[in-house]
Amino acid sequence: MADAQLIDGKAVAAKLRAQIGRNVAALEPRNVTPGLATVLVGEDPASQVYVRNKIRACAEAGIRSIEHGLAATTGQAELLELIARLNQDQAVDGILVQLPLPAGIDTETVIEAIDPAKDVDGFHPVNVGRLAAGRDALVPCTPQGCMILLRTIHADPTGLDAVVVGRSNIVGKPVAQLLLAAHCTVTIAHSRTRDLAARCRAADILIAAVGRAAMIQGNWVKPGAVVIDVGINRIEKPDGKTKLIGDVDFETARQIAGAITPVPGGVGPMTIACLLHNTVITACRRRGVEPPMSS
Ligand code: NDP
Repeated sequence: MADAQLIDGKAVAAKLRAQIGRNVAALEPRNVTPGLATVLVGEDPASQVYVRNKIRACAEAGIRSIEHGLAATTGQAELLELIARLNQDQAVDGILVQLPLPAGIDTETVIEAIDPAKDVDGFHPVNVGRLAAGRDALVPCTPQGCMILLRTIHADPTGLDAVVVGRSNIVGKPVAQLLLAAHCTVTIAHSRTRDLAARCRAADILIAAVGRAAMIQGNWVKPGAVVIDVGINRIEKPDGKTKLIGDVDFETARQIAGAITPVPGGVGPMTIACLLHNTVITACRRRGVEPPMSS
């Protein structure tokens, strides 16, 4: 079989970001400048990089970012006070609290403190519930990105068998909800699933969100399937340097799949693009302006 088509997340994300930039510019005459508040607690280097990238992407798209960096010693009460202020602040359309939070701060309590109308990560139970109920919701960014990439191959995935490996609240469960909403027949697999390889082999659409390097081998993939690899795993190479690889063994899977996302350059870039998209949505909804989201 010929090698799989590569799903170029970097290119799709760049196009989406450019479109969002045009949409933001189109909002200017209506006096709407979307504003995203980022909240980073502590000095985790990976989180610092993620927040910096999000702020840079905002600037490129014309979205104002309001940066809050708090010391690692910040207590939960202080963080909740900041969120209460951001909820009230009319210039703030989206609130992004970078996860993970330091030990001693309860993540669920913090997420639930965010105004659901400003919940650009889509993690608040109100948005989770709305998504599950098939209602208009703020949709988590990585799952949203997976769906956009999937639709570059299957514009309408109705009736296809989808297997999602992973059941986290941030990726596995919401992407399964989106696939269901798109009329796929969805299986959610996890660490207790029996004969995972056989389940994966039945999938027309295979979404891997596990966090285990190259766990899904080529012979787990149905010939012609679309494989979306969400995993980001840093591994050491023989020369001592490190590199990022996905949850799917790319070299064996690409020989069997019909289309596949690379890591890096697949789902990763889509996450930030969808965050910008959500920020524009919240800005428009809060001001009663129709979002210029077409094309
Ligand atoms: P979690 O650790 O929260 O969830 C992992 C899931 O995988 C769990 O549901 C777990 O099952 C399941 N799992 C673990 N081991 C196995 C196994 N051997 N067989 C089957 N299922 C297994 O991870 P996340 O969902 O947060 O992230 C998943 C991956 O995606 C990570 O590599 C992360 O870095 C990456 N990621 C990438 C993003 C991007 O922008 N591209 C954004 C977010 C995450 P159980 O529930 O039974 O424990």
